[in-house]
Amino acid sequence: MAGVFEAQPAPGDARFHESPPGSPPTHVTSALLDAAQLTHAFGTRHFPGLTPRIDDGPFAPAAAPVLRRAGFDGLAPAFARQVHGAAVIEASAGGRCGEADALVTSRAGQPLAIFTADCVPLVLWDPVGQRVAAVHAGWRGTAAGVGPAALEALVARGARPADVLAALGPSIGPCCYEVDAPVVDRLATTFPSRAPAWLSPRGPGKWLLDLWRANRDQLVDAGVPAERIDVLGLCTYCRPELFYSYRRGEHGPGARLVTLVAPPSARAASPRGPERPC
Ligand SMILES: [Zn+2]
Repeated sequence: MAGVFEAQPAPGDARFHESPPGSPPTHVTSALLDAAQLTHAFGTRHFPGLTPRIDDGPFAPAAAPVLRRAGFDGLAPAFARQVHGAAVIEASAGGRCGEADALVTSRAGQPLAIFTADCVPLVLWDPVGQRVAAVHAGWRGTAAGVGPAALEALVARGARPADVLAALGPSIGPCCYEVDAPVVDRLATTFPSRAPAWLSPRGPGKWLLDLWRANRDQLVDAGVPAERIDVLGLCTYCRPELFYSYRRGEHGPGARLVTLVAPPSARAASPRGPERPC
């Protein structure tokens, strides 16, 4: 933690990673997940080597040094075409995995990648079963329950919700995420007891939506202890020096943030399965 970015300390448990010290941080990690020794990275706008078209593969060779420094051991990441839904795909190898907004894997060292530019990137980690999930949760995905759907996929493979750790990465915060009646109606219909706490009136026909609290509450309701969920509290709209924001007008083909997570790569009892298409 050095350089100009120290001037605005991060709320929550975010740790900035810079190389060399004093340069803009390439990614952020959760202290909670770091303590659990989970390899993960919430990329900033300074993460190098993101390709303009994800379908061609998400990374150019320029990403390799940062991926290595972040602890990823060279396997190609698995990624999906994100469609703002709640489908979950199990990734058994790298490459494109179809259409989904949540990926899970237990393959040793297999990175999962999701892409956001205001939507919530959510990482789940089952340290007992050594399984991870990466989730893309905008308001539609949140209304569809994509976070609990990913948790359920881990549970279906043997996880206990009480063991799971989670982190919500940089995304548009309750300070800035203005929504209108259709969004409010959808959330209020789907989560009648919870939604009022996620919304603050902002004037006629406008509300501020707290996607962080919504996603945290959904995981708590599904059995994940609140103290095992790290909300980094970094708003993409408020921090243009660090993050892209769709709402702030950054719509270009490369204007997205990557989130990566992988199960540990050194698991003597469970070697990697054979490489096959995702
Ligand atoms: Zn904000």
